[in-house]
Amino acid sequence: MHPLNQRLFDLSRRGFLRGAPSVAAIAALTGTVAQGVWAQPVFRTYPFTLGVASGEPLPDGVVIWTRLAPEPMAGGGMPMRAVEVGWEVASDDRFRTVVQRGTTLARPELGHSVHVEVAGLQPGRHYWYRFKAGAELSATGRTKTAPAAGAAPEKLRFATAGCQRYEDGHFTAWGHLAGEELDFVFHYGDYIYEYRARRGAERPVREIVGDEIHTITDYRNRYALYKQDADLAAAHAAHPFLVSYDDHEVDNNWAGGISEEDGGAAFPVAVPPEIFAFRKQMALQAWWENAPLRRAALPRGTDIIAYRRLRYGNLAEVNVLDTRQFRDDQPCGDGVKAGCAARLDPNTQILGAAQERWLMEGLAASPARWNILAQQVSVMQRGFGSAPNIAYSMDKWDAYAAARDRLLRHVHDRRVPNLVVLTGDVHNAWAGTLKLNFDDASSPTVGTEFIATSISATGDGSESRADWAQVQANNPHIGYYNNRRGYLVNEATSERMVAHFRGVDFVSRPGAPVVTKASFAVAAGEPKLVRI
Ligand code: FE
Ligand code: CA
Repeated sequence: MHPLNQRLFDLSRRGFLRGAPSVAAIAALTGTVAQGVWAQPVFRTYPFTLGVASGEPLPDGVVIWTRLAPEPMAGGGMPMRAVEVGWEVASDDRFRTVVQRGTTLARPELGHSVHVEVAGLQPGRHYWYRFKAGAELSATGRTKTAPAAGAAPEKLRFATAGCQRYEDGHFTAWGHLAGEELDFVFHYGDYIYEYRARRGAERPVREIVGDEIHTITDYRNRYALYKQDADLAAAHAAHPFLVSYDDHEVDNNWAGGISEEDGGAAFPVAVPPEIFAFRKQMALQAWWENAPLRRAALPRGTDIIAYRRLRYGNLAEVNVLDTRQFRDDQPCGDGVKAGCAARLDPNTQILGAAQERWLMEGLAASPARWNILAQQVSVMQRGFGSAPNIAYSMDKWDAYAAARDRLLRHVHDRRVPNLVVLTGDVHNAWAGTLKLNFDDASSPTVGTEFIATSISATGDGSESRADWAQVQANNPHIGYYNNRRGYLVNEATSERMVAHFRGVDFVSRPGAPVVTKASFAVAAGEPKLVRI
């Protein structure tokens, strides 16, 4: 680990496990005292139990985040009034040069979360930040702004990770990710899992409490459990995040307004959409409260705009997609199935018409060398079993094949350069190329896709799969598979995009070292995976 990162990592752990650094280290922040606002709060227990985070980097600013939760597993334990929180951003890790400071309110309506949209910073550099409430000081976080618009950064390094199922294993991979040198982390989703605690023979690696979560307090407590993990906290304290959501932030395999319990064969008793709407609204609110997101992503009822575009000079444009909120219900139901013609229905949407248009227009106009789709479920075709009964996983783009073909056809016809898709969801690592027609090996290749494995979901895992030869034969565009837990690191230059699949060989106990399982390079202008 780089010494600087080691220090941040230690600092973050210390802030977490032993309380905040000395209060004398920060200048007293005086705030206004207004009716209904607690300006000088006194806490019985340390309120910054959930750490700090930053995200949404722009050339001139970032979002810095925390949430006051002196009793994290009891809804936060805060009084039902707004509380004044001070914040500072410095150009050094000791806060000798504070470049900005201010106060904001942690409001009860938003779980006493704090989201400060800091602006007026310099492009392409690190900053350090921290919060103060009453006499209590948070851990220090480090963040990084994006390069200036139009700049030509030599290099961009970023990680992709998600699927952190607490009961399945330790978040060791997050601890290792904290020590990487990165411009940002893309969290593709499954930040929490909504399931009930395992019972009886279903032995968890780590205990969780309670039933499947449905209410705002349930969701807040589940986030609080996860956010108390020191490895996850260290990753947030070390890098800015682009946080997205997939299904488990709300309900397994939810689609648009439809719950997993959709009245299909697996769940014959449906949750009506107007009832699911209450749960979804609370889940999305808790998601927003617990992530370093801008106000633009604040949910309005069940509506949320979580897709967005970030630019890294002229080197990369990152399109963060939302493949849940606007999709039609899985046309072939859930699970892995063969012979369902509905997956080819041209009317079925996975992005929804508005997001699809926004994406296509953005890709056609992009001046960037690398055009990145940061999203959730696999775009590449993944056929399982043997012909003629090839089966597809029906929660992925494979079940929305016409929408995928429209997107890849657009990329091909408009000559969108260097499409790279970042994905998660399946709890193992994959690499492949994106074909105009996946069933024809001679068809043009229009991009590459890297699927990050899970942080912990499904446990220790294995190096490969029993049917790998069959999967390769079915899918000549797929070049890599690994079933250990970990994350993905990409490094982009104007010449090439490198992908490192990092893994840990166990999560059933702490302390696994990080291993680079495989590395690939894609040359600019040549969408082909080359193992390096
Ligand atoms: Fe998952
Ligand atoms: Ca998922």
